[in-house]
Amino acid sequence: MKKLTLTLLLLFVTLLGFGQNHNHAFGRKINFPNVEGYVTLKADLHIHTVFSDGSVWPDIRVQEAIRDGLDVISLTEHLEYQPHSADIPHPNRNRSYELAVRLARNSNLMIVRGSEITRSMPPGHSNAIFIEDANPMLKEEAMEAFQEAKNQNAFVFWNHPTWTGQEKDGIAKLYDLHRDLISKGLLHGIEVVNMDTYSEEALKIALDNNLTIMGTSDVHGLIDWDYETQHGGHRPITLVFSKERSIESLQEGLTAGRTVVWYNNLLVGKEENMNLLLDASLKVEKVEYPGNTSIAHVTIKNLSDTEFELRNLTDFSFYDMADLVKIKPQSETVIKVKTKDILSDFDLEFEVMNAVIAPKAHAKLTLHVARTDN
Ligand SMILES: [Zn+2]
Ligand SMILES: [Zn+2]
Repeated sequence: MKKLTLTLLLLFVTLLGFGQNHNHAFGRKINFPNVEGYVTLKADLHIHTVFSDGSVWPDIRVQEAIRDGLDVISLTEHLEYQPHSADIPHPNRNRSYELAVRLARNSNLMIVRGSEITRSMPPGHSNAIFIEDANPMLKEEAMEAFQEAKNQNAFVFWNHPTWTGQEKDGIAKLYDLHRDLISKGLLHGIEVVNMDTYSEEALKIALDNNLTIMGTSDVHGLIDWDYETQHGGHRPITLVFSKERSIESLQEGLTAGRTVVWYNNLLVGKEENMNLLLDASLKVEKVEYPGNTSIAHVTIKNLSDTEFELRNLTDFSFYDMADLVKIKPQSETVIKVKTKDILSDFDLEFEVMNAVIAPKAHAKLTLHVARTDN
């Protein structure tokens, strides 16, 4: 009997343990809904392997991306920095791309050819992706490398402008050389998120110069170790709103600036793109007035993998919480709204605290609520 009690106790403790992992229950694969008119492609376009200064072979990068449910990656080896070249000689700068394409051929993962133009500041480091051949990009002068990228019809973005290896104060600054690159159409995007950094200054540079907002892992070690995927963590990614699921459409979407970056629980993007994502992610499922009360129970479904933090902007107050509402990922949340009278429909307005659309500015969300119980 004692033994049985112990067994039951152990079982209970085990179940409790599983229960605590519940916000991981929807799995490791990253999920965001398609938005109005576009397919949402999940991209990590800044990654390293042993073919530059990373620690793993390209097959690991392909498998990590498949596990994360990504649509597309780019292995962007440093053109000018190859610390493993004594052990792994590789004069061909396309080699890691070629291996990754072969390794991904039986999956849905798309691989984009890319390279990191690795220079001191300015211009710092930049990724050229959608290139045709990395080898001719190896040039003496930085400007020549950017020109070669343009000749190959590349999309080029400025990497980690906030990196303390190049900017001691951690503040991204636009130099004359960058202005020159932008005016000549040689620079199209900027990393606002890189690895474990977020740059408000880079976001301002993106908005002021109409550059595409990018977020990447820039992973050198293992995704699992850097981002603790076993505890529900995830790498930073760029969501690209594309007309189709293809590399051509991806490039069109990036060039048009249709991105939202997902970093920890934060979303960063231009207002129009953020609005597309919010509209697709948060849906009013059910609106009921239970009993004889005038408290509307509004069920909101979150179709995305991020937890939304909403701040109430209306005069309504809520029955069981203050003005801050958390909408858990991939689940439903009920907000009990004290409407005083029973209303057939009304608007809920929120500031979305984890959706940044400009420095210190958050997206606004209006949910139109109509009764479903009459
Ligand atoms: Zn770099
Ligand atoms: Zn890098």
